[in-house]
Amino acid sequence: MSRVLIIGCGGVASVAIRKCCQVSEVFSEICIASRTKSKCDELAKKLAPTTDTNITTARVDADNVDEVIALIESYKPELVMNIALPYQDLTIMDACLHCKVNYMDTANYEPEDIDDPEWRKIYDERCKKEGFSAYFDYSWQWAYKERFENAGLTALLGSGFDPGVTQAYCAYALKHQFDTIDTIDILDCNGGDHGYPFATNFNPEINLREVSAPGSYWENGKWVEIPAMSIKREYCFDGVGDKDMYLLHHEEIESLAKNIPNVKKIRFFMTFGQSYLTHMNCLQNVGMLSTAPIMYEGREIVPIQFLKALLPDPASLGPRTKGKTNIGCIFTGTKDGKPKSYYIYNVCDHEECYKEVESQAISYTTGVPAMCGALMLLTGKWNKAGVYTVEEFDPDPYIEALGKYGLPHRESFSPVLVD
Ligand code: NDP
Repeated sequence: MSRVLIIGCGGVASVAIRKCCQVSEVFSEICIASRTKSKCDELAKKLAPTTDTNITTARVDADNVDEVIALIESYKPELVMNIALPYQDLTIMDACLHCKVNYMDTANYEPEDIDDPEWRKIYDERCKKEGFSAYFDYSWQWAYKERFENAGLTALLGSGFDPGVTQAYCAYALKHQFDTIDTIDILDCNGGDHGYPFATNFNPEINLREVSAPGSYWENGKWVEIPAMSIKREYCFDGVGDKDMYLLHHEEIESLAKNIPNVKKIRFFMTFGQSYLTHMNCLQNVGMLSTAPIMYEGREIVPIQFLKALLPDPASLGPRTKGKTNIGCIFTGTKDGKPKSYYIYNVCDHEECYKEVESQAISYTTGVPAMCGALMLLTGKWNKAGVYTVEEFDPDPYIEALGKYGLPHRESFSPVLVD
């Protein structure tokens, strides 16, 4: 029996909320809070007749710490699930510390205004020191570690699929399959087709920033950075077939490099179709991905936000998307003195997801792990004070819960390796 505040009511949050309502013996009371309260009300109204979970709603601007504090103080939750945007991670963590409440999210912090000169200075120093230039990194949230430890609170970072389940797969491989892991390739394949020439599967701003940034991977103790989309491989995915995939920077590489002992190489690949890449390059070339405000007919607009208004809402892709996703990790290493390779992954069907929760598989594969991460914290299965990523906890109960609530894993002990 727990009381949980969920901030955000977009594509991913809607799935997580529906899943919480399927586990009402744990999530007995939830409050859905977002900037646009009407969206929370609509979902609450739809779900109320189907669940024993008691659902309330609230309006909150999570960019404002005082508003989040006031909401936490009035609702008194045991846990705050941040499923808004990465821009709100720090304000919500501040509010949780102030109110002494546990915290979790699905993506690591990045600032909304990457052209802000003060942030830019810190960012430029970090690029030089760390050797990768993504706008997001763990340093901001890891800086809260001591404060969460001292307060006896847990902050669980990035409990989506990637980051999230991919890190649990790494912890699981280390616990059950290997004595040492040498290489990790994380492969994220979306074989879904929504019929639009161009649309993003989750928040367009976050998605396009991630994809248009330089790629990087971890090798022999340091980052190797490459121009965006310059390393391409073809892979045949179970349930999907042959797809082109490209090496990207991804946040879990940063924490896995610290937490998987002696790992030599970690890469992340994501599949993209040619139509997506052509549109993205064109939009980037004309400046539509910029976050710097420009004046247009007497008013200030931010190009990427204007683009977001033009693109299909990711939540609207659900009924149109057909096909499957396949996300997982391929490992090489040793067990009992012998070389070994191992692949653990999940295959998820867009249409099946829509039938169950009225959402496509990208939101589903993120929303289910968000609920399962919360379940681990609320049931005390994951219980240590501080700021942690998923691979720092016991993977077994999480992977079991993922299987039970919609994301079972498959394994291969002789996978085709990525060159
Ligand atoms: P959406 O844009 O669909 O939803 C975002 C939600 O956050 C909306 O309800 C929005 O409210 C709310 N929100 C935004 N700003 C604020 C604010 N200042 N205060 C309160 N609420 C706010 O995003 P998604 O559902 O696609 O993504 C949610 C999160 O999941 C993101 O952080 C994303 O990076 C992450 N993600 C993680 C993945 C993983 O595998 N780990 C994969 C995919 C996504 P409103 O509608 O009123 O603006």
